[in-house]
Order: sequence, then C-alpha cells, then structure tokens
Amino acid sequence: MKPRRKLLNADPIVEPRPCDVPGCKAEAVHRTAAARDRLTDTRWFCLAHAREFNAAWDYFKGMTPVEIELFRRQDVIGHRPTWPFGLGAIGVGPLGEALRDRIRDAFAGAGMYAKARAKPRPAQPTPARRKALAKLDLKPGSTRLEIKQRYKELVKRYHPDLNGGDRGGEERLRAVNEAYRILMNRSTA
Ligand SMILES: [Zn+2]
Repeated sequence: MKPRRKLLNADPIVEPRPCDVPGCKAEAVHRTAAARDRLTDTRWFCLAHAREFNAAWDYFKGMTPVEIELFRRQDVIGHRPTWPFGLGAIGVGPLGEALRDRIRDAFAGAGMYAKARAKPRPAQPTPARRKALAKLDLKPGSTRLEIKQRYKELVKRYHPDLNGGDRGGEERLRAVNEAYRILMNRSTA
C-alpha cells in the first residue's frame, strides 16, 4: 500500500499577479516557461490568454521550422493568413514572444530552427504568377492546395455543362485554366 502523502503543508500564499499581456486586467493563473533552458524566465498569463497561447502553440506544432518561418514572415509583411479562431495578433506582444521562444526551443535540439532562419527569403512571385493569382482571386502567399481548391470552385462555377449551357462562362473558364496552368508550373512559381 502506498503511504499517504501529507497534505498539511499547503502552497504558500502568493501575491496575485497580473497577466503579462498589456491592457489585460485579469489575474495570472498560468505560468509559461519561455524556454527549457531558461525555466526562471517565465510568462504569466490569465486563463484566457493562456488558452490563446496554447491554441497558437498547437497550431504551430504540426509545422516544420521552414513553414513556421514563412508563416511569421507573411504575418510581418501583413499578408495575414487565416488564423485559427480566436488567435488574434499572436505574432506580437508577450504572447507572440513566448510563442516564438517556445518554437525556437522546440526545434533547438536538431538545430533546425537556426537552419530555417538561415534560408534565403523566398523569391517574389513573377509578374505572370502574380497576375494568375489575382485572376483566381487568391492572395500572394497561397499554397498549391489553396490554388487547387480555388480552381475546382471556379471550374464548377464557369463550366458550361454545369451551368445549364451558359456559354458566357466559357471565356472565363479559359482564363481560369490558363491562370491555373501558370500557377501549377513549378518553373514559373
Ligand atoms: Zn490576460
């Protein structure tokens, strides 16, 4: 039988401290270590902000260092991608800093994060590609998957066979096909 643990010594009462997020008046309940090797350097968040931090962390967890870096750069230059619900401006402020620290820490072991940072900036899209993206009403940083999904939508919308024989869609469909061909061609990507 396991010995019963004494519960006499309760945690010492600590002063309530405010959430680290500026403007947040809530009491911090959740301590987040900024990095494994700096356990004393911690952030204090209220429950709501701790949840936001954890949601952002979960969101990034499945990405490779390169993807995370690209994502962050897009954020910096204002091509804000679709955030998961409730994330807000996670890239800035104490939440963003804590997140960056944790991401860096997560990849530090393999030296992957440093390698990702050293990668050159991705080339700007060519004018042809930029035009093609605009034609499909897509943002500059769109992924191949996003392009494919959009293409499928537009084909459905404009295909004469799917539009009760509307011939006006034919010209638009041709333009959509041409734009799609440019975007899927890796040499012009
Ligand atoms: Zn807060």
